[in-house]
Amino acid sequence: MNTAAQSAGVLSFDEAYEVVREHCRKAAAVTDRASEEVLLMQARGRVLAAPISADRNFPPFARATRDGFAVRTDDLASGVTTLRVVGQVKAGDTYDLPVMSGEAVEIMTGAAVPPGADAVVMVEYTERKSFPEIDRKGREGTHKESESREVIEGDDRILDISGYEKPRPAEKLTEDFVEIQRVAMAGENIVPPGAEAREGQELLPRGARLGAAQIALAAAAGKASLKVYRKPKVAILSTGDELVEVAEKPGPSQIRNSNSYSLAALVAECGGEAVQLPIAPDEEGKLTELIQEGLKADMLLLSGGVSMGKFDLVEQTLNSLGAQFFFTGALIQPGKPVVFGEVGSIPFFGLPGNPVSVMVTFELFARQMVEALSGAEPSRLKSASARLRKDFKTKTGLTRFLPAMLDGGLHDPEVDVVPWQGSGDMMAAARANCYLVVPPNREKLAKGEMVTVVMR
Ligand code: AMP
Ligand code: MG
Repeated sequence: MNTAAQSAGVLSFDEAYEVVREHCRKAAAVTDRASEEVLLMQARGRVLAAPISADRNFPPFARATRDGFAVRTDDLASGVTTLRVVGQVKAGDTYDLPVMSGEAVEIMTGAAVPPGADAVVMVEYTERKSFPEIDRKGREGTHKESESREVIEGDDRILDISGYEKPRPAEKLTEDFVEIQRVAMAGENIVPPGAEAREGQELLPRGARLGAAQIALAAAAGKASLKVYRKPKVAILSTGDELVEVAEKPGPSQIRNSNSYSLAALVAECGGEAVQLPIAPDEEGKLTELIQEGLKADMLLLSGGVSMGKFDLVEQTLNSLGAQFFFTGALIQPGKPVVFGEVGSIPFFGLPGNPVSVMVTFELFARQMVEALSGAEPSRLKSASARLRKDFKTKTGLTRFLPAMLDGGLHDPEVDVVPWQGSGDMMAAARANCYLVVPPNREKLAKGEMVTVVMR
């Protein structure tokens, strides 16, 4: 091994993670990144290159959040109250007539609350009272005590309207009443205009990754297209004399190159553009040529050739190209020989060739660099706690990230390691949905204890 690589050394997982994170922060802070304008749906998974702000108040009007009746809370002070229903407003309607004392307007979720009303009482707490036989004189302008009594025999609660003698404009009169069975607080079931965001306020910052919620926000703000950063090009170079391409027929001692594909899929998943290079043999001349090709991208991922074997030539080749190494191993399993460094300003990761190691080390280290180069704040590892389903024994010294299956309910999720034949077992990786984290000081984990998993 070369001296530069040797001096970089083997770090604990935590140290290695922090070293990568530090470099990611620097990479993410670069602001003169190329950007492009794309249609809203093409922006999914991309990173905003310019902030989006609210073109109007969110919500633009006082929005009812329930189906029910828009009322004046002062009217309800005495508990069960009967109010005259003077209109109906559904989502999309413009209803300008003020709600006066003693009145209610039937309202639907998403509708603009009429002026004068200061609460919406949920329909569940109301009872509609219709009086089809009401004296037509009621339409003339007053609604008298005697009339209401006549109509709903035996129901004392209607007395609440008995004092209601205010002249009404003819078009507002109805024979409809509603019994409000609860007192309401001012503002109940109403989101005031601008409560979520004021006109001009920033809705999403530059650097926001565009998932479903962010796309919805952009749509709500009228953005049919968005300015996003160009995807970083991530070159992928698999090394190894034993490898053949997927479409080729492998000889008896050969295997197909699967790592270029797992890596390309992972790169695409976190917002990069994968550039798959041809397989590099374990021979310095050709390897140098292909690494140089890879360094034309924004980042280089190498698979294989970083262990201590006689034909593991990746580190020395990188070194001869002027690489600076930040670490040349991490105390983890799988993936211990992982290396991280840069040539000029281009970051590279040398990932151990075992198919599970390559995926684990990508997840632990390389993912955040792809995110940083796409202009996003690099995310931390997504971890969760779960109950271990079976006892687990191992050796101390390494932080382990073992293919595992997290399942069970919302309230007490359980996790179990997936049986595997070691770091080369792709079947195990394909059966897993997370990695069980075993801290370096633990020899065994007991069934039933709460353990950490890293989601993937
Ligand atoms: P290496 O890191 O080069 O020592 O490789 C470790 C193991 O991973 C060996 O069994 C390799 O055959 C296997 N391997 C290396 N590269 C790949 C690849 N691109 N696809 C599948 N397996 C690989
Ligand atoms: Mg190899």
